[in-house]
Amino acid sequence: MAIIFYNTYSKKKEEFEPMIPGEVRMYTCGPTVYDFAHIGNYRAYIFEDLLRRYLKYRGYKVTQVMNLTDVDDKTIKSCREKGISLAEYTKPYKEAFFDDLDALRIERAEYYPEATAHIEEMVELVKKLLDNGVAYRMGNSIYYRISAFPNYGKLSGMNISELKAGARVDVEEYEKETAADFALWKGWDESDGDVFWETELGKGRPGWHIECSAMSMKYLGESFDIHTGGVDNIFPHHENEIAQSEAATGKRFVNYWLHCAHLMVEGRKMAKSFNNFYTLKDLLDKGLHPLALRYILISTHYRQQLNFTFDGVNAALASLQRLWDFYDNVVDAPDGDSKGKLSVVINEAHNKFILGLDDDLNISSALAAIFDMVKAANKTIAETGISGEEKEMLLAEIDKFDSVLAFLKPPKESKLIDEEVEKLIEARENARKGKNYREADRIRNELEKRGIVLEDTKSGTKWKRKID
Ligand code: AMP
Ligand code: ZN
Repeated sequence: MAIIFYNTYSKKKEEFEPMIPGEVRMYTCGPTVYDFAHIGNYRAYIFEDLLRRYLKYRGYKVTQVMNLTDVDDKTIKSCREKGISLAEYTKPYKEAFFDDLDALRIERAEYYPEATAHIEEMVELVKKLLDNGVAYRMGNSIYYRISAFPNYGKLSGMNISELKAGARVDVEEYEKETAADFALWKGWDESDGDVFWETELGKGRPGWHIECSAMSMKYLGESFDIHTGGVDNIFPHHENEIAQSEAATGKRFVNYWLHCAHLMVEGRKMAKSFNNFYTLKDLLDKGLHPLALRYILISTHYRQQLNFTFDGVNAALASLQRLWDFYDNVVDAPDGDSKGKLSVVINEAHNKFILGLDDDLNISSALAAIFDMVKAANKTIAETGISGEEKEMLLAEIDKFDSVLAFLKPPKESKLIDEEVEKLIEARENARKGKNYREADRIRNELEKRGIVLEDTKSGTKWKRKID
């Protein structure tokens, strides 16, 4: 069975076939480091993480490139406002980005090229476009003539026949309605201050779109398999990337274009410009567990809009708690004869997981497979206990699923105290028996501080790990 992806370019679901059998080369548009990334951005990066991890799960060797846009209209404006150099300005945002990736368990890409370290490659690409006659000079800047590229508009489905001849845009983010010649190279002017490069093209800086064409082709070749981003990237950014790259090489740039829908807040895209955003740090400071956010961002299909709410956070916590309790339950399950029942459960989960994710990353199906497994396995464990062999199989299967999802197992920090917990519970029990309630309460409070919640039931004291 092949994996199927919805391709924005053909507007159809297509069977995935990489150019080199067994290998996938993919480019994922990365952050513009003019500020901390918001969790809308992380929806895109987590969708890409799921894609990358699933391709690996299915046996492909993946080479992923994610650019860091560290020179563009926004970064220049911001560093000028602060009166510091571009590099000084972007550094903390780059660092924070990598910290966030770790917190959200986003696996590292193979390459994170920085735009400012690839000016030479961009200049070479613009020179090719000048030689081809697709690019032209106007003043100190160089523009791409979109009427020279017959497929312009194919990705976004925009009709450019009404385009005014010679219309040009200088800003990098413009409205969907404005198809126009765009800047490949921006000649220096005063608003750029000391941000410029002296090159064969003159004194200036690259446009945003050329950054991604130059860096993707440098690391992945002139043609590669998958290119992704959020839907806001489709036009103009990805449309322009195709036009630049294909006009320069004469080859098809990318075979599969995958785009995720937006993370919304009250019906609006989460964005810096709408001031309706949360950074990851905002949420962690409010006490949100990063894995709850990972769960929320992964669990809605990537092509569906996702509304961010704090109710959603609570629901995600409850799901995580169920998964982590299950894991502990399997680890601690008593020896017994599960009579091959768990092998059947594992097989069903395995097949359903793959069937779901093969179908354009249908995550709902994959998660349903996991939760069905949790329910059936918990039941068997309660009824019969589990044989050593089936326990091993089950734990191995959870590990494999977790190589894709990365939230199935309780975080290690809370694992370390099993025996201690048991000891403290026993001490509390003894204190209660001796009617030393103050000591019993002290122990309960201490456990609570360490993330353990007690529940006194008829059959004794049970405990759970609290998610903090
Ligand atoms: P930017 O830093 O604005 O260039 O965006 C980096 C990535 O985040 C791009 O792939 C965008 O498409 C994506 N993105 C931005 N806002 C959102 C959002 N609200 N929901 C999902 N993806 C987003
Ligand atoms: Zn890009």
